[in-house]
Amino acid sequence: MRLTRYFLPVLKENPAEAQIVSHRLMLRAGMIRQQAAGIYSWLPLGLRVLRRIEQIVHEEQARAGHIPVLMPTLQSADLWRESGRYEDYGEEMLRIKDRHKRDLLYGPTNEEMITDIFRGHVNSYKDLPLTLYQIQWKFRDEIRPRFGVMRGREFLMKDGYNFDIDKDAAIHAYNRHMVSYLRTYERMGLTAIPMRAASGPIGGDNTHEFLVLAETGESEVFYDSAILDLKLGERVVDYDSREECEGIVQEWTAPYARTDETHDAALFDQIPEERRKSSRGIEVGQIFYFGTKYSEPMGAVVVNDKGERVPVHMGSHGIGVSRLLGAIIEASHDDRGIIWPEGVTPFPVGIVNLKQGDIATDGACEALYNTLISKGLEPLYDDRDDRAGAKFATMDLIGLPWRITVGPRGLANGMVELTCRRTGESQEMTPEAAVARLV
Ligand code: ATP
Ligand code: MG
Ligand code: MG
Ligand code: MG
Repeated sequence: MRLTRYFLPVLKENPAEAQIVSHRLMLRAGMIRQQAAGIYSWLPLGLRVLRRIEQIVHEEQARAGHIPVLMPTLQSADLWRESGRYEDYGEEMLRIKDRHKRDLLYGPTNEEMITDIFRGHVNSYKDLPLTLYQIQWKFRDEIRPRFGVMRGREFLMKDGYNFDIDKDAAIHAYNRHMVSYLRTYERMGLTAIPMRAASGPIGGDNTHEFLVLAETGESEVFYDSAILDLKLGERVVDYDSREECEGIVQEWTAPYARTDETHDAALFDQIPEERRKSSRGIEVGQIFYFGTKYSEPMGAVVVNDKGERVPVHMGSHGIGVSRLLGAIIEASHDDRGIIWPEGVTPFPVGIVNLKQGDIATDGACEALYNTLISKGLEPLYDDRDDRAGAKFATMDLIGLPWRITVGPRGLANGMVELTCRRTGESQEMTPEAAVARLV
């Protein structure tokens, strides 16, 4: 992408309404634009990151054997009357009437609708296990939308639902989700700690939240710092193996890690003092096992291997896809701007032309640009006729992990400069060496 042809409306000044760094940087980097309280347009740079996060979520769901679907954002109130949640859900639910005076709502979550799909099509234990998920916009009329996409009213969520024949099978689905979420967050460059949580309006007694540590987080968290050493890394996981998934879950849930809602001071005090940590965290996901809470009232039953009709055991599992942009920036930035982890960066590398209009410099930039594209690394090429300082400031603000700087002085010796955004280290090398370093 050439910057002269792109739409990157960066702001020079800090927007007054932004209280936390991720919100400020997303506005300044021209990623989002607020349209109403807690409702945002996604501008091209923000959309690119959002799509990359979605892509990672899809890939990890596929690996775990989960199947994508897409449900509508608008739902009929009647479905929610069946589960009893239409009245219970309260003010966070946006209720709408259509022209025929029928009650609709903008879905805040989809347990009812997915249960309806399931009961309409599945009758036998032979079709289980089944996990369906979607990435779809949700609406919750949050009393205090704030911090940009972190607590929006309209926000993008991955929500998945497992259907299993009994509790043991459903617990396997729960464990599988925990493992796949750990890998999902790791690929985004995040440490998200699974913490024992309270279940809230979705119900059920088995639930973990995933929290990214950050001072600006809205949850108070307590944990054993030993958990920070755990990494899945390149470990190959057989998601069909109950033992393997359970083993990983045990590993990650052995160290103490809880939110304030389930915090147990007596247990916490048993951790060696130097490992006893309390701080704040951002909830980027949550998994639940809730048994037959929806299948029973809504009649989602299958015939088991003895010919009996039994309600299926279910769970639901959410990832805050749009909130993740804020969480990643909270965890990865400096005074100059965002520092994208390689896994989610909108462009892998930027090219800065120090002397636009100079034939040799333009030519070298074009050659680099085309080579990088041919290697599958689409760069953002700053081909504007602007000062070097302004170009560097833009690149630092938008946070691409690598920058290649091309100017007449270096080119006289056949050299360009490769700079790492995270460390700030620069190295002179030939364009070929720079490309080789990036692929
Ligand atoms: P919170 O405690 O922050 O209100 P929640 O527990 O109500 O979140 P869940 O029902 O667990 O949310 O939804 C799954 C995920 O969706 C959350 O873990 C979070 O990452 C994301 N999410 C929830 N509410 C919002 C929101 N208003 N804006 C952006 N993301 C959200
Ligand atoms: Mg909430
Ligand atoms: Mg919560
Ligand atoms: Mg939650």
